[in-house]
Amino acid sequence: MQPRDTLIEINNLKKHFRLKKGKVLQAVDNVSLKIFKGETLGIVGESGCGKSTLGRTLIRLYEPTSGEIKYENQKITGKLKKEEERRFQKKVQMIFQDPYSSLNSRMTVAEIISEGMVIHEPGISKREQEEKIFEILDSVGLHKHHANRYPHEFSGGQRQRIGIARALAVNPEFIIADEPIAALDVSIQAQIVNLLKQLQQRKRLTYMFIAHDLSMVRYISDRVAVMYLGMVVELSTSDKLYEEPFHPYTKALLSAIPIPDPKIERSLERIILEGTVPNPVDPPSGCRFRTRCSYAMDICSQVVPELKEIAPSHHVACHLYSEHQQLSG
Ligand code: SF4
Repeated sequence: MQPRDTLIEINNLKKHFRLKKGKVLQAVDNVSLKIFKGETLGIVGESGCGKSTLGRTLIRLYEPTSGEIKYENQKITGKLKKEEERRFQKKVQMIFQDPYSSLNSRMTVAEIISEGMVIHEPGISKREQEEKIFEILDSVGLHKHHANRYPHEFSGGQRQRIGIARALAVNPEFIIADEPIAALDVSIQAQIVNLLKQLQQRKRLTYMFIAHDLSMVRYISDRVAVMYLGMVVELSTSDKLYEEPFHPYTKALLSAIPIPDPKIERSLERIILEGTVPNPVDPPSGCRFRTRCSYAMDICSQVVPELKEIAPSHHVACHLYSEHQQLSG
């Protein structure tokens, strides 16, 4: 694989939340990742695995507990000067899961789209603003005449298009899409994912696509990181991850995806995940997946497995993959 330019580098990132009675929720724990320019990095895992917290920490909605994030080699964690903060906010935007609650119902579509534009381009004239709004509406598959309408007048898919238009208004480089299709009808999901793909090519965007629907993640992502209880347990190119997953958790997640062909479906071995995700306030020692893993060994309760590259561009955090051991089957 060609070496690629790094847009974002995350090093040993932790985001812990202090709760009552001195308890601490370890939402994100020791995550290290790179996001390359122009790619889509999918982040998958069950709800509560820390994927949204990771996205929100990346966009500076949360201050990390420790670790650092670099954007184009510039540290963006900690206190930034006002100018640096503004520059970063212009480059990075977020699309939220719920197109119903994430849009201000009292604002027209034009007002929603122009809000960020006015902040980041204070000298922009009304006419330029209007032209840009029409252009953005067109790029997300909406029409000029939608500009003066309110969010409640649109369907779920159209509202998500407005959410995308709002993100595009400041010409960002990097977009975090936090479960952008989870609240939509299945028939609309593919349209939104296709729109995101087209926009990525046209505007050379980089995406982090957070989801729990593994089939759609494969379709849009170049690489996928699988998270479990705040940690990345596997990271690979999408094809490799889906064709030859290594981590027992990834295998279980993938085996749960329904296959439309009944013959293939019957021939596949389903891996049923036992139990539920443990409480992130009190995660298991060693490997956090060990309470649900049928391969767990003594070492798994004692040592946290490191995320290691065990095949080209394929990283896994599991004690089964030391130099001498390979997981069969
Ligand atoms: Fe299972 Fe141990 Fe690997 Fe964790 S480290 S996934 S418990 S085998």
